[in-house]
Amino acid sequence: MLCLVEYDDDGVVDSSRRALSFARKLGESSGSTLAAAVMGTMSASTLASLSSFGVSEAYEVSLSVDVYAPIAWARALVALVDVVGANAVVAAGTDRGHEVMAHVGALSELPMVANCLSATWSHGATVRLSRQRWAGSLIEEAVLEGPRVLLTVASDGVAAEPVATPVVTTVREYQLQPSESDFSVRVAEWKGRGGGVSLADARVVVGGGRGVGSEEGFGPLDELAQLLGAAVGVSRAVTSAGWRPHAQQVGQTGTRISPELYLACGVSGATQHLAGCRSAKHVVTINTDAEAPFLSRADYAIVGDVNVIVPALVVAIRARKSTRANDVGSSDPSC
Ligand SMILES: Cc1cc2nc3c(=O)[nH]c(=O)nc-3n(C[C@H](O)[C@H](O)[C@H](O)COP(=O)(O)OP(=O)(O)OC[C@H]3O[C@@H](n4cnc5c(N)ncnc54)[C@H](O)[C@@H]3O)c2cc1C
Repeated sequence: MLCLVEYDDDGVVDSSRRALSFARKLGESSGSTLAAAVMGTMSASTLASLSSFGVSEAYEVSLSVDVYAPIAWARALVALVDVVGANAVVAAGTDRGHEVMAHVGALSELPMVANCLSATWSHGATVRLSRQRWAGSLIEEAVLEGPRVLLTVASDGVAAEPVATPVVTTVREYQLQPSESDFSVRVAEWKGRGGGVSLADARVVVGGGRGVGSEEGFGPLDELAQLLGAAVGVSRAVTSAGWRPHAQQVGQTGTRISPELYLACGVSGATQHLAGCRSAKHVVTINTDAEAPFLSRADYAIVGDVNVIVPALVVAIRARKSTRANDVGSSDPSC
């Protein structure tokens, strides 16, 4: 069992933790152990996460060019499958996970199944699985035949479950020299988020819709997100208007989020938007229309103007933070 793992400065990202949990359970159904493929050099926190999710072997893959390049990554996974003797390759259902696994399927001529919720080997020959279709509004039960299967995991439908006792993870280096053409698609430049919280993995998301009114109207939302350590997510009306990039879109044709808190401001709650935030634990919405569909999905709703309420929230949170900082300062014996 081989799982492609994505990580950032804080270690293994949430969607990959979910993929690891899924892969471990699938492996258990065929008696196979869990190996992880990590592109590049991993940090101590990434290694600790792998141990806590039951990874017995971690392959640090070094490619001749150290950037995201989907075909080169796929080439490495195809090669690693034989090294590990894996009967399945699993990745998170992220943009990268889907892209890389589609290339793995093309290179190895194996079928790939996306957005799985559960999967079990049956007699070592077929995999019985359920997966999301139509943006999660339909669950498909399917049987996949083949000596090896390629699966991505619905990031909003599978829980991240560490093992009771972390295992000892053996780290192995794996070097590959893909051809020049394998890097024909690769990341050339990063723009935008600038190292902030990733939308797919954020614990808090501040969302903005057409009700925000303009590109400039996002200023207070950005400020609020910064205060809360949150990512900003938007509706398609906002990306279509060119106020924000598509990378920030939440929904069926955008990113799926599963934060602890989603604060949706001036978003109506169209089904295609809700498809991307159905696994948010708590939803608070701000809308001038008390009949907007989002209100029936929300735990709390504030009926009012986003351009009044968000700046007021920013002021209140700033005041609370500075009171706390003063309290800590005055109780500090060194002061
Ligand atoms: C195939 C397909 C895929 C799609 N995929 C996606 C997707 O991935 N993500 C997505 O978001 N959409 C998607 N859509 C579009 C979706 O159907 C909606 O059109 C879109 O979500 C609407 O965005 P919105 O809620 O920002 O805008 P609107 O529907 O215009 O809603 C704006 C809301 O803001 C409120 N409002 C207005 N002014 C204020 C104010 N001052 N203060 C507070 N509230 C205010 C209004 O009452 C309203 O509820 C898709 C559509 C199709 C057909």
